[in-house]
Amino acid sequence: MSDCTHDCSSCGESCAERQGGSPFQIKPLREGCRVGKVYGVVSGKGGVGKSMVTSQLAVTMQRRGHNVAVLDADITGPSIPKAFGIHGRAVATEDAILPVITGTGIQLMSVNLLLEHETDPVIWRGPVIGGVVQQFWGDVLWQDVDYMFDMPPGTGDVALNVFQTLPVDGVIIVASPQELVSMVVQKAVKMAQMMNIPIVGLVENMSYITCPDCGKKLYPFGEGKTQQAADEYGLPLLARMPIDPELAHLVDLGRIEDFQGNWLDAVADKL
Ligand code: ADP
Repeated sequence: MSDCTHDCSSCGESCAERQGGSPFQIKPLREGCRVGKVYGVVSGKGGVGKSMVTSQLAVTMQRRGHNVAVLDADITGPSIPKAFGIHGRAVATEDAILPVITGTGIQLMSVNLLLEHETDPVIWRGPVIGGVVQQFWGDVLWQDVDYMFDMPPGTGDVALNVFQTLPVDGVIIVASPQELVSMVVQKAVKMAQMMNIPIVGLVENMSYITCPDCGKKLYPFGEGKTQQAADEYGLPLLARMPIDPELAHLVDLGRIEDFQGNWLDAVADKL
C-alpha cells in the first residue's frame, strides 16, 4: 500500500482499515492527481488556533522538502487564505477547480476562495457543508501532493464525522489549555476512537506567554493540567505553542510562511 493514490475506484486492495467500517463512498481523485498522506486538523471549538496550527504544519512539512496541500473547508471562519496572503477567487476549468499556489508552493483550496467577496457570509447548512470536503477532494486538481492537511467544517464530533468520506491517515486535535480538560475534547477523542480514525496526538495552543522583559514563561491557564488530561485520553501531547504576538502579526500580514519556531516539529516527525 506504499504507493496508494487514494483512488479507491481503480484499486483492488480491500483496505479494510479505511473503507470497511465506512458506509460512505470515498470520491475518487481527478485523473492524474495524487495525494499521499491525509491528516485532519480538528478542534473542539472555534478560535483556539486550528487555522494557526494547520498553516504552521503545512509550512513545516513544506520546509522539510515535501509537496504540501491544504484543504480548508472551515466554513465558520475560513482564515487560511488570509494567513497565506491569498485574496481573490480560485480559477476553475470547465469541470474542475485549480488549487491556489502560495508563495512557497503550497497548494491551497478554501471555501473563501469560492466566494464572490471574501467578506461574504457563508450560509450553507447541513448536507451542503458536509459535501464541501468531498467536493474539494474530488473536484480540485491536486498535483503530486505528499501531505494534505484538511480542516473540515464544524468542530468536535461534527468535524470528525466528515472524515468518514475521506481517506484520512490520522487527525490532530488542537485545543487551548482550558479546553483540553473539558468535555468537548473528550467527546472528539471518543468519536475518533469509535470511528476508527487514528489520532496522531494533541496540540495545545496558547499554552503560555513568554515575558518580553525577563524571558520567564507564564502559564495563565495553569501548567500541569494538560499533560494530565492527555494521559487520561491515552494520547501524546505533541506540542505546546505559546501565545506569540509575532505569530498573530504574521497572520494579519498574510505572511505565515515566514514564521520562526519549531513548536510543531514533534507533530511533523510523526506524520
Ligand atoms: P481557529 O481556526 O481555531 O478558529 P485561529 O487559528 O484563526 O483559530 O486563531 C484565532 C486567532 O488567534 C487568530 O487571529 C490567530 O492569528 C490568533 N492566534 C492563534 N494562535 C495564536 C498564537 N499561538 N499566538 C498568537 N496568536 C494566535
